[in-house]
Amino acid sequence: MSEQQVKRPNIIFIMSDDHAAHAIGCYGSRINETPNIDRIANEGMRLDNCFCTNSICTPSRAAILTGTYNHVNGVKTLSDRLDGKQLTVSKLLQQNGYQTAIVGKWHLGHGGDSDPTGFDFWSVVPGQGDYIDPSFIEMGQTIKVRGYATDIITDKSIDWIERRDKEKPFFLMCHHKAPHRPWIPDEKHAHMYEDIDIPEPETFNDDYSNRASAAAAAEMRIDRDLTARDFKMEPPAHLEGAALKSWKYQRYIKDYLRCIASVDDNVGRLLDYLDREGLTEDTIVIYTSDQGFFLGDHGWYDKRFMYEESLRMPFVIRYPRKISQGTVSNHMVLNVDFAPLFLTYADIEVPESMQGVSFHPIVEGDNSAGWRTSMYYRYWMHLSEHKVYAHYGIRTEQYKLIYYYADALGTLGSEDEPKTPEWELFDLKKDPYEMINVYNDPDYERVVAVLEKELHRLQEEVGDERFVYQG
Ligand code: CA
Repeated sequence: MSEQQVKRPNIIFIMSDDHAAHAIGCYGSRINETPNIDRIANEGMRLDNCFCTNSICTPSRAAILTGTYNHVNGVKTLSDRLDGKQLTVSKLLQQNGYQTAIVGKWHLGHGGDSDPTGFDFWSVVPGQGDYIDPSFIEMGQTIKVRGYATDIITDKSIDWIERRDKEKPFFLMCHHKAPHRPWIPDEKHAHMYEDIDIPEPETFNDDYSNRASAAAAAEMRIDRDLTARDFKMEPPAHLEGAALKSWKYQRYIKDYLRCIASVDDNVGRLLDYLDREGLTEDTIVIYTSDQGFFLGDHGWYDKRFMYEESLRMPFVIRYPRKISQGTVSNHMVLNVDFAPLFLTYADIEVPESMQGVSFHPIVEGDNSAGWRTSMYYRYWMHLSEHKVYAHYGIRTEQYKLIYYYADALGTLGSEDEPKTPEWELFDLKKDPYEMINVYNDPDYERVVAVLEKELHRLQEEVGDERFVYQG
């Protein structure tokens, strides 16, 4: 088939909530198996350095839809709503002949300009949504559906594909609520892992020494900050210390992984459906998550930090017409790049206002053109839930430089209690788990100078403002 005869592809974007790459088989998980998500990677490409530009739900979703950084799209925090009047990838696809739908988690506000726009069909859970018998806001009407959220979101997705006009390509965002806290599994997976112990991560007993103050100040510790609600029972009274911490980790991680088992089953159901309908060749299928998550790493759950486990998004993509089977890329791809990628494959010009770049050459294995070698990150919600300090930073192939400017700067959902700013530098080659801050190590003086310059260059490039400490 010649280039002209290739039909514009369908695009199915499956995104879960808080699913870290290190809980996916093809990313080398030590704690679970995900045969169906792996199937996408085996039949396409796995991206090992896909990063979010702000590791928190609502902002990442806004970056994906608009192709812009959060200081541009206005969704910096969980308390912000998306102003739907701005340009989004769904609107552009809809205006250019695609049938469009979103099913599942939205989390960008409801009512007025914050309801989904650019979608022919939308059926989204209000706010975080429920795992069991969830409500949906479907084209403005609230309905309640009996069953388990992950199954229902897949049913609704398949049902919409089934009802489409077969003459036109489609774009579907299938957004799972799982595996977000409070990690409630379905009955089918409720007893998985019952008789085994899930291995604890390398940094499980991190004492937060050799780091800036932010790590020790964060309130997302497995042993201290999870509650009986998370465990679905009171911890056994006879346990204490390390034994109690291990018990808590097992309760937490098993429910998290059970939720993922259902997501993986449902990814398989969708892939099987595409096979049955003869849609596999002409459909781009992606599996990702809005950000990463700490799975006991550094003794934590949750995300927000620019550390690897939370920064990294899983990203596997299959498109048999263009992407070779079983390929892997280390190029740095960001959530703001997704919209430009979809538009490029849909043969629509990427608007100037989008800040991301289409990475179709990367997924097609064409490494001839230049590509970014550093990325910019910013987390605004100073001392909000989990008490993480506001910070920004850059990551290159080998290094990560983080600046905890630690000031609310009037940001919604933040606390106006500034801390003294601090820097962290990690040598990811020598210290992949980011346990030793080498910012003040004389051996890294030159590296620091180069990275600071690059950080400020990137800030200028994306149009964000540098923090100037008035101390
Ligand atoms: Ca999330």
